[in-house]
Amino acid sequence: MTTPSTKKRVLSGMRPTGKLHLGNYVGALENWVRMQDQYECFFVIVDWHALTTDYADPSHLKENLVDVLLDWLAAGLDPAKCVMFIQSHVPTHAELHLLLSMITPVGWLERVPTYKEQKENIKAKDLDTYGFLGYPVLQSADILIYKADVVPVGEDQVAHVELTREIARRFNAFYPLGKEYFIDKHPSQLTQYERNFLIGQGREIPPDGAVVLHIGEPHPKYNRIYVFPEPQALLTPAPRLPGTDGRKMSKSYGNAVLLTDPEPVVRQKLKTMVTDPRRIKRTDPGDPDVCPVGDLHKIFSSKETMAKVYEGCRSAGIGCIECKSWAADALVKILNPMQERRKKYEDNPRLAWDILEAGSARAREVAGATMDEVRSAMGLDYRSSSGPAKGSTK
Ligand code: SF4
Repeated sequence: MTTPSTKKRVLSGMRPTGKLHLGNYVGALENWVRMQDQYECFFVIVDWHALTTDYADPSHLKENLVDVLLDWLAAGLDPAKCVMFIQSHVPTHAELHLLLSMITPVGWLERVPTYKEQKENIKAKDLDTYGFLGYPVLQSADILIYKADVVPVGEDQVAHVELTREIARRFNAFYPLGKEYFIDKHPSQLTQYERNFLIGQGREIPPDGAVVLHIGEPHPKYNRIYVFPEPQALLTPAPRLPGTDGRKMSKSYGNAVLLTDPEPVVRQKLKTMVTDPRRIKRTDPGDPDVCPVGDLHKIFSSKETMAKVYEGCRSAGIGCIECKSWAADALVKILNPMQERRKKYEDNPRLAWDILEAGSARAREVAGATMDEVRSAMGLDYRSSSGPAKGSTK
């Protein structure tokens, strides 16, 4: 049994899409590395989520999830500071998903913006499936089963956390774990228990007029009235990282710099990167504020380099090749230590699997405790009872 942490708890995850790129690092991983010092963090590789869109070919799942884990470790996630695990190694995610599915109105899911967007944009796959419609419920189960306080998200994911909050509220309303009731009476009619409860809660009892109060009595074993707290979305503003073609960096656009790219590959990719389109000749002045290479500098280069870029670009004092080589220097400086850390695990994959297995065991412990409460609140805990008495027909 692990000692409970006093830190707020964070849950976040990634699909096993294979090797990660700099956009993943800047958009999420870098923030996770910071968070592991401030929060009790659970980071999950959501392999079941991958199946909601890629169910037709799961053959790369295992290889992809190992690549994601290696990149997490390379980026600086530390198994001594956070829990890293695989979703499918904690089967209670599926149980909670099922139970939450029972209470989630279909209309809530059809309104999720990413559901509509992805159905419109991904034409190569048949997404008219029950699993795809329900993936935000699976995501809610992922979050709620750890009673996460905080979920770091980008803007496009805020709606998912809001849905999770609504599902938690609905579950708590249907299935309070302890006793709950409302008082709607004159203060003089309050029972002693109600008085004591209100005083114990630090509530003032008005001398006159009706009081409408919602009070409750925690479950004696779990000491809670409701199973689920409502998680907060933590918006993590991330700079837009351009790929080599100037669009947002994405593996599907083929414009990404991978965290595993060796130095010559990084330099080659940057050589082909688009620049300020007005800078046609070497003597034309340009503007780093409208150049994707300028955006890279803003994220990765030092102040001194930035000053040289602004001055040299606007005065046509430097060429784009030179400017790109400085950007490549900055990327290599960040990627080199990551690649060194990654190598340790590539050389000994057992180490990485041990981390996942230990993390999954810890996750099962926490998720199992929540599921005990869920089953108890729903009256589904009969499997742990001794069963009906002899001779009973019920
Ligand atoms: S000098 Fe640098 S910032 Fe200016 S256009 Fe060329 S690559 Fe872009």
